[in-house]
Amino acid sequence: MDNEHPPEGPADGDEAAHGSRPTDFIREIIEEDLRTGKHGGRVHTRFPPEPNGYLHIGHAKSICLNFGIAGQYRGLCNLRYDDTNPSKEDVEYVDSIREDVRWLGFDWDDREFYASDYFGRLYEFAERLIEKGKAFVCDLTPEQMREYRGTLTEPGRESPYRERSAEENLDLFRRMRAGEFPDGSRTLRAKIDMASGNINMRDPVMYRILRATHHRTGDDWCIYPMYDFAHCCSDSIEKITYSICTLEFEDHRPLYDWYLEQLDIFRSRQIEFARLNLTYTIMSKRRLLQLVNEGKVSGWDDPLMPTISGLRRRGYTPGSIRAFAARIGVAKKDNRVSIDLLEHCLRDDLNARAPRVMAVLRPLKVVIENYPEGRTEELEAANNPEDPSMGSRMLPFSRELWIEKDDFMEDPPKKFFRLAPGSEVRLKHAYLITCPDVIRDAGGEVVELRCTCDPESRGGEAPDGRRVRGTLHWVSAAHAVPATVRLYDRLFAVPDPDDVPEGASFMKHLNPDALEILTGCLVEPSLREAPPLSHFQFLRHGYFCADPGSTPGGPVFNRSVPLRDSWVKIREKI
Ligand code: ATP
Ligand code: MG
Repeated sequence: MDNEHPPEGPADGDEAAHGSRPTDFIREIIEEDLRTGKHGGRVHTRFPPEPNGYLHIGHAKSICLNFGIAGQYRGLCNLRYDDTNPSKEDVEYVDSIREDVRWLGFDWDDREFYASDYFGRLYEFAERLIEKGKAFVCDLTPEQMREYRGTLTEPGRESPYRERSAEENLDLFRRMRAGEFPDGSRTLRAKIDMASGNINMRDPVMYRILRATHHRTGDDWCIYPMYDFAHCCSDSIEKITYSICTLEFEDHRPLYDWYLEQLDIFRSRQIEFARLNLTYTIMSKRRLLQLVNEGKVSGWDDPLMPTISGLRRRGYTPGSIRAFAARIGVAKKDNRVSIDLLEHCLRDDLNARAPRVMAVLRPLKVVIENYPEGRTEELEAANNPEDPSMGSRMLPFSRELWIEKDDFMEDPPKKFFRLAPGSEVRLKHAYLITCPDVIRDAGGEVVELRCTCDPESRGGEAPDGRRVRGTLHWVSAAHAVPATVRLYDRLFAVPDPDDVPEGASFMKHLNPDALEILTGCLVEPSLREAPPLSHFQFLRHGYFCADPGSTPGGPVFNRSVPLRDSWVKIREKI
């Protein structure tokens, strides 16, 4: 089946047009700077992932924001790996990040940078601060350093090594770099203010000694810069105008500004926004890694995971994620967004683009007794009744069919409009049928329906215009393709899985029914060669996506979302 769609470009359409009112406080700041000519009209952002895990939907918000702003104001956005922590980082993560950002529809041209590319420059910056008397080598152990740091209510104490001369500091720092001292025995610290009300300003560590092989610089270095020092300097080196980050860095901003001011280098501006939290899932990479390591999920790209690779395999489209990011906007206050909104954005997108097809998940045999044996008819079926440009396909129909088991009831309640003895239903795109007889197995369970069709109702309409309410999906037994269907639900059973009492683990909230695997499903023949990651609406079941790992045992389809849209209901209530 043709399931190719035109490639989705970057989020032009998702963004407010240049020149209209800014949609959030970050764009307000940018437009004010553009008015006053602060950076000569230049807008330059960056997305700075640490390659210590796969990207998740929270990162997608940041990606859409940074690349979206660059696109909107004809600026640039760099991809910068913040790789200053060699013990947790890996090239597997580097590669996945690149793939995910690209898949979301964004492009950084040749501006793929690494904080580790700047290790030489950062080292020079550090020496410059030492020469200015603004940094010193400290011999306190980590425990002592904690003791000296003070608390939120008590000022810290100055290190006894704080007044070393610039010459001595320079000599010791060079010897740190040369590998003369053991790991953790010394640090380089900024000399700021141990009495500051902001703990980040109490002589923070700039460099530590760590013998770890870095995935890019190998064993070139045995000292590594701390995040706060490396990040602002990297921003400055790249002449980033807006360094957009999440709220927990708000208290780090004075330090960010202090380094750039003391070094007298390009002043990037840090702006904080609220990170994305979603109901029924978690965002911390550390915890996601724990799910992977403990085998609670099949990997980072398990369709249950909130990772971009998991969402992709679940059947999310780049457009739906960008639309979601645009809908939630940017705020200054932390909150938790309903996952219903994310699912709503996906339905909205797939409703327009996914062909409607027929798949029977729990099959029950139907034999049309008055339909000739050995005959096959090809019936035309529109791929999307709302969009004729999506064309149609031919569906084979024959005497033996499969329908959904729960579309038949022997003793139906009132208002059951599906198949029951004596009732008439429509087989979608095909014929009207009734069910005069059933066949049971030894246990009395119905295993086959003996039905009759109205031969005059080809296409599904009665010749005399009589009213038939129920419409069932079906597949022809001789032509159906066996398939496996994975029904995914939410990863966690509670809306806020991060909220666990002291000592308890978030793991206890995992949803035991998050995945139901149905084998022995039967799908229409057009799905035999469904391309990996192609999207479908299985009539009456929801949206599904062909799993890229489909096997010789027949295709595997992952349910992206059921059809029912609870967001619409929530919105109506508001
Ligand atoms: P985590 O807390 O999940 O481990 P992180 O902040 O350590 O994530 P980074 O790789 O450092 O992950 O993040 C890269 C960028 O993405 C940063 O600018 C960070 O602020 C942003 N980001 C991370 N998580 C979120 C989120 N939930 N919502 C919005 N932006 C986020
Ligand atoms: Mg981080």
